[in-house]
Amino acid sequence: MKIIPVLDYIGTPLVVSLFAVLLFLQWRFPLRRQHFSALRRVFRNLVVSIPSHAVLRWAALPVPMMLAAWMQSRHFGLLGWLALPVWAQIVAAFLLMDYAYWWWHWANHMIPLLWRFHNVHHTDLDMDVSTASRFHFGEMVFSTAFLCLAVLVFGIGPIMLMSFFIAFECATLFHHSNWRLPIRLEHILNFAIVTPRMHGIHHSIVQRETNSNWGTIFCWWDKLHRTLRRDIPQDEITIGVPAYRSDSELTFGRLWLLPFQRQRDYWRLPDGDRPERTRRPADKLAK
Ligand SMILES: [Zn+2]
Repeated sequence: MKIIPVLDYIGTPLVVSLFAVLLFLQWRFPLRRQHFSALRRVFRNLVVSIPSHAVLRWAALPVPMMLAAWMQSRHFGLLGWLALPVWAQIVAAFLLMDYAYWWWHWANHMIPLLWRFHNVHHTDLDMDVSTASRFHFGEMVFSTAFLCLAVLVFGIGPIMLMSFFIAFECATLFHHSNWRLPIRLEHILNFAIVTPRMHGIHHSIVQRETNSNWGTIFCWWDKLHRTLRRDIPQDEITIGVPAYRSDSELTFGRLWLLPFQRQRDYWRLPDGDRPERTRRPADKLAK
């Protein structure tokens, strides 16, 4: 299989280093109290991610890369036709792709077939940087099809595609991490970037809270759609999906099979109740 230089020589070492740095930061400055053995979860999440990474790197990713090279050579797609200066093309490509992924994430929750697979990611019972790798290989196949469509419509070139992909992966690691950002830094990042506090709310067992904060890199799309929430204190969040909360059922073997089995009523606990929040904190940015 062909080497993709930007990805294999720059992207992968960068992502692996960032993973290690965030692992340290979340251990040193934890955001939410963890309820399950971190070591076991990290191991499980990494094993779950092996086929996903293999599918992505050796089968799925080369397809949008070929498409991107072909689009660029023919100046096809939105960016090809607009003929913007290079800097404007880079900015436009990042914004368009990140916004497209906002819709894609929304679709992953709203379309039952896609949610079967994305559910595997949300069943993690605590959330930390390793959750960023917990994706079912089936979801990787669907999301690569979506990536191809985005490349075709926007006319993204191969270098741009890989740069966005690497930034996307870094942002995913960052906002899944359990690192308690200093509140000053949080306030600054809140103007633009999706933070671990925001994404923690997206992983809540309360469905109304899960249906918010869909962004990956920028939080502007959630501001635009009025789906940005920052008002839930992190200590009050229970991470996971109500119907799948038994640790012994969430082994990597079972997680691989999960999308192909009969699905439970996701948002109800085993006793039939839907988790709801009764008390609503008043302050805008809850710690
Ligand atoms: Zn999600």
